[in-house]
Amino acid sequence: MNNTLSPNTITRIQTYLTQQRQEMLALLEKLVLVESPSLRPESQAGIQSILQAALKTLDYEVERIPGQTSGGQLYAAPQHLPADRPQQLLIGHCDTVWPVGTLKEMPLIMEENIVRGPGVYDMKAGLVQMIYALKAIQMLQLKTAVTPLIFINSDEEIGSIESTPHIRRLAKMVNRAFILEPALGPTGKLKTARKGVGQYEIVVHGRAAHAGLDPEKGVSAILEMAHIIQTLFALNEPETGVSVNVGIIEGGLQPNVIAPQSRAVVDVRVPTHEDAARIEQAILTLPSVLPDVTLTINGRINRPPLERTPANQALWQTAQSLGQRFGLTLDEGLAGGGSDGNTTSLYTATLDGLGAVGDGAHARHEFIYIDKWLERCTLLALLLLSPPAEQ
Ligand SMILES: [Zn+2]
Repeated sequence: MNNTLSPNTITRIQTYLTQQRQEMLALLEKLVLVESPSLRPESQAGIQSILQAALKTLDYEVERIPGQTSGGQLYAAPQHLPADRPQQLLIGHCDTVWPVGTLKEMPLIMEENIVRGPGVYDMKAGLVQMIYALKAIQMLQLKTAVTPLIFINSDEEIGSIESTPHIRRLAKMVNRAFILEPALGPTGKLKTARKGVGQYEIVVHGRAAHAGLDPEKGVSAILEMAHIIQTLFALNEPETGVSVNVGIIEGGLQPNVIAPQSRAVVDVRVPTHEDAARIEQAILTLPSVLPDVTLTINGRINRPPLERTPANQALWQTAQSLGQRFGLTLDEGLAGGGSDGNTTSLYTATLDGLGAVGDGAHARHEFIYIDKWLERCTLLALLLLSPPAEQ
């Protein structure tokens, strides 16, 4: 047992964070009041500056990685980085799904034990936890055996396209990764598994013809697509958790023209790497039914599944036993959506859903519970202080 985690230390962290409640709420308020939708890259500068200033008070060196299509990312490491120690990665995102102007209809509201507002739960509260867990460690002069590094991207809600190479590079270096995405459900389960997520586009090329004069000269891309849609929906497996949804279809020119083209966009969710490979293969090799049509199929599993690997489960057990030490009973759950934890888990022990407890991610009623938020911040500080996993 690492002696920095004596019962006294746990109490000191809890007391410190309880005293910081107002300051934490003030920082959360600032973060929520700068709207930061992923699709407006220029909107990220405001929130990144606030985060940068907060990280500097922790004696962290902050690097702003500019984006091409995204608002760019923040990477932060202690100013005096010990070379001989293992490292741990804290990951969060500062973008939200909410367009600029949302605050007008969905204002920030602070109640006795609840904070409401766009992006509060997913996941600006998690960013505050990250900063205050580190602040508790700093102010109480505790020592981490594993050096915390921070990565905050601004394109998570649109698939982390630009930030993923950085996340991969960091995940390969570290002993473990903690993801500050919101916890799961009303009891705040930690996310020890996430489905992999993919998207595919299918374009059917048929042949146009007059629907009245010579329909037999045409090949209907819409009829072909109707067959394909049936095949795709038949790939659903409720028992294993594989889901395939044709979410968009379009095509055709006029009612009196045999449709020369049709397009569909498909969302795929898979619990295991095996399912990912199998479903991907099935989609990319879809056979055509009608003669003389051609299919163009593009896409891939963009976020691989986060599976319950032995390393991930060991980290989850550490969290569970640390929770028990201050009366927090934790449960684990499977999330249907992906996160950057899906990526880190390919390379290092990963625990996800360490952020706030509340509800309404991407929904109008988005909120967090303040008391549970403080508890989760204590949990994060204890995790950061825990000894490295043997590798
Ligand atoms: Zn999120």
